[in-house]
Amino acid sequence: EASLAKDNSSNDVKNGQGYKGHSMLAPFTAGWQSSDLHPLIIEKSEGSYVYDINGKKYLDALAGLWATSLGGSEPRLVDAAVAQLKKLPFYHSFWNRTTLPSLDLAKELLEMFTARKMGKAFFVNSGSEANDTQVKLVWYYNNALGRPDKKKFIARAKSYHGSTLIAASLSGLPALHQKFDLPAPFVLHTDCPHYWRYHLPGETEEEFSTRLANNLEQLILKEGPETIAAFIAEPVMGAGGVIPPPSTYFEKVQAVVKKYDILFIADEVICAFGRLGTMFGCDKYNIKPDLVSLAKALSSAYLPIGAVLVSPEISEVIHDQSNKLGSFSHGFTYSGHPAACAVAIEALKIYKERNIVDQVNKIAPRFQDGIKAFSDSPIIGEIRGTGLILGTEFTDNKSPNDPFPPEWGIGAYFGAQCEKHGMLVRVAGDNIMMSPPYIISPGEVEEVTSQITFTKISSSIFI
Ligand code: PMP
Repeated sequence: EASLAKDNSSNDVKNGQGYKGHSMLAPFTAGWQSSDLHPLIIEKSEGSYVYDINGKKYLDALAGLWATSLGGSEPRLVDAAVAQLKKLPFYHSFWNRTTLPSLDLAKELLEMFTARKMGKAFFVNSGSEANDTQVKLVWYYNNALGRPDKKKFIARAKSYHGSTLIAASLSGLPALHQKFDLPAPFVLHTDCPHYWRYHLPGETEEEFSTRLANNLEQLILKEGPETIAAFIAEPVMGAGGVIPPPSTYFEKVQAVVKKYDILFIADEVICAFGRLGTMFGCDKYNIKPDLVSLAKALSSAYLPIGAVLVSPEISEVIHDQSNKLGSFSHGFTYSGHPAACAVAIEALKIYKERNIVDQVNKIAPRFQDGIKAFSDSPIIGEIRGTGLILGTEFTDNKSPNDPFPPEWGIGAYFGAQCEKHGMLVRVAGDNIMMSPPYIISPGEVEEVTSQITFTKISSSIFI
């Protein structure tokens, strides 16, 4: 087993030979990986596939980082960027100066988001910036309302909200906190809503949701409701392991936060724009948020852009209180970058024209059922997902309480095997996660589920 763990960490693809020990401090990469291993260098993309610098083809089963929803070669997005870059490559949006693409995109987003009426859109460049912005918006709002003590945030264990100081604090993943002196003291974490892992013996999904909502209420009461400003949640938890909510969870949690006048922030960075088979995650789970974070599929990741949608109540307070508090002194040079906005406008147009939600719903059962067919494997604990997002967790005895020893590196091994067989997935511990582009064809789904089967991979080590 020791040698297995070692093998897991060495990419046998001689792809990036010559770039070992490269000069880039790589994100979410261990120092030894970039110094001792060849990086996988991706050079080209086409539809659902990417190609490395040796021309090896990979099915991009994670759509980059849950992001390239329209695949890697959508000419309309490229044309939209080029046209805008030729006309006006950049102008900012500070001091009430702005550009048409940013105004048009804001209007479009407010029209598209129908789970409840939203008031304004604020542009950022990433999901992390969106969530940092959420905290400042909420604090500004409560300061404006004369509630200076209502400042704490409640997020959930295993959530992922980004990696800037505040977004990492909101995230409920220890790796983002250790070594960085996080989380910030105003962030509290409540239960992860993972039924399979955390339910009590005999507890139904509904009962589990009730218990979690009660725990949330107890936490609020313990801290004092007058100190809790907002609750933040991903409709389906992504990087924490692809965890769809248990039945009735959001209904119960929303009732609790409403009772104590706590704002609800929906982090839709992964879920928005069709990923779950609804235009937004909020549509799927009947969430009526006060604030929404968007990024990734907003531009199909062709250019970096994110957005925060703000409820009319909050945007009105910001408007009405501006004489007292002055300007909303927050923003980025590239907030509403015209080229990124032009690409996002085109992406949204494509989603509508191609009826992307129907398209996802058509292909999703093939994808979900295809992978879930491996549920009986003795080394798979749970396969979970919805729409075009899915996570596979390896455990012994099909039990959440029997993880394989971490030093075996089972997840890393499977990830490396997928890479070897021509498929890129996300590995986190013994979880393998996928979120293919919406344009994935039935044949490509077949490739994911049968050509590179878990059986084949597992048989190579376990039989
Ligand atoms: N929120 C969620 C739910 C995410 O999945 C991510 C990124 N995976 C982020 C926020 C952070 O986005 P970014 O990496 O663009 O900062």
